[in-house]
Amino acid sequence: MAAKYVFVTGGVASSLGKGIIASSLAKLLQARGYRVTNQKLDPYINIDPGTLNPYEHGECYVTNDGAETDLDLGHYERFTNIPTSQANNITTGRIYQNVIDKERRGDYLGKTVQIIPHITDEIKRSIKLLGADDKYDVVITEIGGTVGDIESLPFIEAVRQLRWEKGERSVLIHLTLVPYLAAAGELKTKPTQHSVKSLLENGVQPDIIVLRTEHNLNNTIRRKVALFCNVDPEAVIQSLDVDTIYKVPMNMRDEKLDEIVLNQLGLPLNHEPDLESWERFLYKLKNYNRKITVALVGKYVELHDAYKSIVESFIHAGAVNDCKVEIKWIHSATLTNDNVVGTLKDVDGILVAPGFGQRGIEGKLLAIEYARMANVPFLGICLGMQMAVIEFARNVLRLEGADSVEMAPRTKYPVIDLMESQKDVVNKGGTMRLGAYKCELKEGSRAYEAYGTKEIEERHRHRYEFNSQYRKQFEDAGMLTTGVNPETGLTEIIEIPSHKWFVGTQFHPEYKSTVTNPHPLFVAFVKACLS
Ligand code: GLN
Repeated sequence: MAAKYVFVTGGVASSLGKGIIASSLAKLLQARGYRVTNQKLDPYINIDPGTLNPYEHGECYVTNDGAETDLDLGHYERFTNIPTSQANNITTGRIYQNVIDKERRGDYLGKTVQIIPHITDEIKRSIKLLGADDKYDVVITEIGGTVGDIESLPFIEAVRQLRWEKGERSVLIHLTLVPYLAAAGELKTKPTQHSVKSLLENGVQPDIIVLRTEHNLNNTIRRKVALFCNVDPEAVIQSLDVDTIYKVPMNMRDEKLDEIVLNQLGLPLNHEPDLESWERFLYKLKNYNRKITVALVGKYVELHDAYKSIVESFIHAGAVNDCKVEIKWIHSATLTNDNVVGTLKDVDGILVAPGFGQRGIEGKLLAIEYARMANVPFLGICLGMQMAVIEFARNVLRLEGADSVEMAPRTKYPVIDLMESQKDVVNKGGTMRLGAYKCELKEGSRAYEAYGTKEIEERHRHRYEFNSQYRKQFEDAGMLTTGVNPETGLTEIIEIPSHKWFVGTQFHPEYKSTVTNPHPLFVAFVKACLS
């Protein structure tokens, strides 16, 4: 059976949760037995978000095949438990790059290369690619940005063409906001009407309108939107604000989003969605018996989206442990010798976050020293692991001035060094050690205990590594390498066995935590915080 396509666009405002609606729909269709995948089209000109500062666009999510992608792909994976890949995230930059490469190769045979048809053809090709090899029944493609933006126009135009070509086999969901005017005590639909008009001006008629709202919408409002926007009244549905994104699939099921979509696509409803395990997860989320506080030490803490996957991993791991994990956000640059104990003394665990560059490094080292000395459970991820190595080198091995060559290229003790494979790299974009690599665990280690298996595969995003020349010195003093890449011998995990729970990973466990498969290291870390 050829794949069917669902498009998700957004209007009125950004950040309405298109990614969550798209993920929720995917979850519901999957729970009815369909094979689904989610795709995100981003209208910015960067080739990928890998070169973007997290303040711009939140976390950069990494897939198994090493693509640096939009954080919505994290939601897709967390909801459906299906790995995504490079093909699931396309930007304007990548589209143009592909078209320009073709032009240079002479593929256009002397034609003038234009937005229509060449750019739109390339967009359509990227969308259809996912539906091509009979892996999926339904491809759900989310168009980033807001309808009416200049940047989104080629994407909307490509959708218009695709819908024309594919006829009844596609559905377009438009997500908008119905603001509540407190002074008037009224919910307003005019912005939705205008945003649908702007879609119509581009030749695209939505089939389903999802209205994000703070208050329940009555039938009068739904009928009004239906009338003004040419959709069936049943196809106007609400997405009420919720306290956790994981409730959205339930709300969408209650609003019958999956049924409407399947009917419009001409696909059988099969059975009711099987959401038993999801319900159990939601139950655990709400009915916890304990609470813990974990300090998240990083330099982008003003923007929680910069650490999206870490936050979600704690939600998954908390539910497994029947506890709620509160995060205490700590900006590493604010930690000093004088306030570090005061700031951290009440927390049950400390996570030092990934990152790049010098800013806030000293604060991270102070937090790690505190965790190590006070026997507080510690998880260091990527840069956080590298900092744990540096802290140990300076304060235990007494290698004064030990550092990463990222921060101090001429350090006397380069305990974190540039990877051999990185030495000739000049370009910044897409050139780190990226994606999934195998790792072998040492039996009896905390990591082995957590995973319960010897061989694992985890995702990476870094240029620097633990310098193996120092490995023996570290091991003799009590910091062990407990995870190694079997091909290269690179240190992927360090631990201090004499400590309550002190683990640093060169990889990013947070990218693989899903509702169905909470990440073993986060689960074990939370358990250690509870004990
Ligand atoms: N900046 C470090 C490196 O490139 C760590 C990267 C990270 O934390 N993702 O090796």
